[in-house]
Amino acid sequence: MLPKAETSHPSQPVSALEEDEARAGVVLPFALARDTRVILDGDTLVLGPKPLALGLREAQRRVATAGQENMRVTHLDAAAFDAALARVYDQVDTQEQDGVLFELADGTTGAGRQRDLLDAESDAPVIQLVNQLLRRAVTSGASDLHIEPYEDGLRARMRIDGFLQKIMDRSDVPTRRVVSRLKVMAGLDIAETRLPQDGRIPLTFGGRTIDTRVSSLPGNYGERIVLRILDRSSGLMPLSQLGLSNAQVALLHRLSALPNGIILATGPTGAGKTTTLYSLLQLANRDERNIVTVEDPIEYDLPGISQSQINAEIGMTFANGLRATLRQDPDVILVGEIRDGETASVAAQAALTGHLVFSSLHANGSVGAVVRLRDLGLDDFLIAATLRGVIAQRLLRRLCDTCSTTRAVTAAETAHFERHQIEPPAYVKDAVGCDECGGIGYSGRVGVFEMIEVGETLRAAIDRGENETALRAIAMQERESLFGQGLLEVAAGQTTLAETLRVVGDVA
Ligand SMILES: [Zn+2]
Repeated sequence: MLPKAETSHPSQPVSALEEDEARAGVVLPFALARDTRVILDGDTLVLGPKPLALGLREAQRRVATAGQENMRVTHLDAAAFDAALARVYDQVDTQEQDGVLFELADGTTGAGRQRDLLDAESDAPVIQLVNQLLRRAVTSGASDLHIEPYEDGLRARMRIDGFLQKIMDRSDVPTRRVVSRLKVMAGLDIAETRLPQDGRIPLTFGGRTIDTRVSSLPGNYGERIVLRILDRSSGLMPLSQLGLSNAQVALLHRLSALPNGIILATGPTGAGKTTTLYSLLQLANRDERNIVTVEDPIEYDLPGISQSQINAEIGMTFANGLRATLRQDPDVILVGEIRDGETASVAAQAALTGHLVFSSLHANGSVGAVVRLRDLGLDDFLIAATLRGVIAQRLLRRLCDTCSTTRAVTAAETAHFERHQIEPPAYVKDAVGCDECGGIGYSGRVGVFEMIEVGETLRAAIDRGENETALRAIAMQERESLFGQGLLEVAAGQTTLAETLRVVGDVA
């Protein structure tokens, strides 16, 4: 039987429910213990290989709540951990505990109070399946979860470190009911299957709030559902961990201290633009400055900063939101994205009238932002007068520490380094693949950044309407480009040339 917690009033009779809650206080739910490789077994914390922080935090919370002291810690290998899991949860009907971690955070399926996913009751098979998929995505740190009906069944994939991984492919599941369940959770109209819809599912997981943006798209075998997972409580990555050079950090400090102008982050979706913009906001955040944001979606909660959510359906577009924030006496404004001429124009006007504007833009490289702003209809003189800096960024997969191998650099590789005025390394590393990295050869990612500061020379060239090649020659040296920065990571043994070519391409 499960180890029982001491309740605060041991002499009083407790109801079955209270007893249950007291017991739940010290033992982690089975699925959480299994997935995070953390078991709370009486006064012992049992850890499997690479235990996840999520399980450790929850164990810590429960131990503190139960007032337990003198905890021992045991480290086990995978086989011993599985044995411990089976022993500790022996008496528990694991089927019932499995896959019931998730629940709507607003309590609509509960008894009116907000209930944590970890306390949820068991449920119907379709609900369990959906919960398992959500739990798997969240515990794996996935950024997106795709649910895709196709001819022969239903496929689920999740995006980790920028790559989709299949987590389910089954022909024996009721596709339409799985999709309907997700649509109900997201507050979508389940009767409407011919039009795309979007909504959100607010979840809690072990006391953590996780927001998900849900979109549906009709297809020939049913509606595809994609969830974007926003773990706002995971906090923002500190600037020191972004992988910036000292010169780049100094530039970010300079840019964030400017009184006015436009600072842009460019790159494809998932390149970490939001993290960079939020880092700039935090640098700019001082008591004497009023900072407001217009975002879609709000990805992190920033203390001391007024954040607003875009809602195009009711006319709250980026351009309208930006106009509204200008009436709020701001000093610094974050506009999530400039994707149309109207927003670009309002942002430029805001910069001209003494505001510092941070935003993101879809463009290749840093100088590409100038070209993109021209495409959006801004005049050269207006771009020259307002643009102060551009940060282009990409995320490269980081080589797995456990399995990567070292070999001598080839002549072809040396040529890449020389072309970018970088001293070629004698050795580089190759990706291999092992159990630690799931056979991929890479684990985690490293950011590379190309930053330009618009000074006098570059400003004059933009004003003259110079083309991208000319602007690029003025703005940076080859080693400062995205590819050059990628090569520096290759030389440092952090990633491979193949990965750098795949993500950045050698444009020079
Ligand atoms: Zn490996």
